[in-house]
Amino acid sequence: MHLNPYGEDAVNLAADLANRRPATAGELADRCRAAGLALEHPVTPQDLERTHAVLEAWERVVDATGEHERAELVNRMLAESAAHPRLTDHAGSGWHLHYRDDRQPLGSVLSALIAVGTALHLVGRGMHRLRRCAVTGCTTIFADTSRTGRQRYCSQRCANRDAVRRHRAGHAAR
Ligand SMILES: [Zn+2]
Ligand SMILES: [Zn+2]
Repeated sequence: MHLNPYGEDAVNLAADLANRRPATAGELADRCRAAGLALEHPVTPQDLERTHAVLEAWERVVDATGEHERAELVNRMLAESAAHPRLTDHAGSGWHLHYRDDRQPLGSVLSALIAVGTALHLVGRGMHRLRRCAVTGCTTIFADTSRTGRQRYCSQRCANRDAVRRHRAGHAAR
């Protein structure tokens, strides 16, 4: 099975890896597999290093202050990683598009997948739909795939925490 770059899989995988950075090549492999990514090669420390560099660049996209800066940073990631799209049926599970050359190590695969997946998510759902949690002290990144596009918190837990805080602040003001 392959991650569908048109869906939210790629951008969610990026958020998952950025929020909790994999410490070893083995952990990186396990978490990519758990996300549904088919691994074609053994995962190496070089893949881990490349992945950390990709995540650094991706967090700058998350923290961009406006749409134009965000677009510029995504374009840079695309230029560094994505090749022309190609049709492939290498896994025997049906024809699909790869945005990279064949037989690339995982670090390069993730680089292309995250750049293209993020670009498709932003143009498909909205340029603002990538952010950090609104709770002070929570830095968790999420891709907003909600219907309304107004998700402010990484989780229900953080939404509840902030509701309690606002309620208390309201009482203190009165
Ligand atoms: Zn494939
Ligand atoms: Zn949060």
